[in-house]
Amino acid sequence: MDSPKISLLKSTLARSDASLTSPRLIVFKLLDQSQPQSMADLVKASKGQLDRASLYRTINLFEELGIVNRISIGFKYKLELSDNFNHHHHHLTCVSCGRIINTEEDERLESLITQLAKKHNFHLSSHQLEIQGLCQNCVVK
Ligand SMILES: [Zn+2]
Ligand SMILES: [Zn+2]
Repeated sequence: MDSPKISLLKSTLARSDASLTSPRLIVFKLLDQSQPQSMADLVKASKGQLDRASLYRTINLFEELGIVNRISIGFKYKLELSDNFNHHHHHLTCVSCGRIINTEEDERLESLITQLAKKHNFHLSSHQLEIQGLCQNCVVK
């Protein structure tokens, strides 16, 4: 039996006539973590299981299919599974140490975004909200 996430991954791939190959499964599992991963993290973690080219190819495919979201942090970025595979959340990113704090879902914030879209007759499909600053550890230094 596949886990619900793996079933969803399979059906998402199938919609684009792609199948779940072992490199794709490896990359998906590397991304299925509480913390967003940088490309360097993924290269390191996949060493010995996957060559760099397949890793990059798989990440590109996952981004195209909406399996993965890119979180921009200045000029850099990290990757995480999209809301389809995760609870919806936002990030507080520390610009000093790079730590990313996932916020818990806040209904007031979500309904505010819905209201805002409504006001502009805008059909909302998804949103990302990135908040940057200094974390607890970095602000005292
Ligand atoms: Zn910090
Ligand atoms: Zn939100």
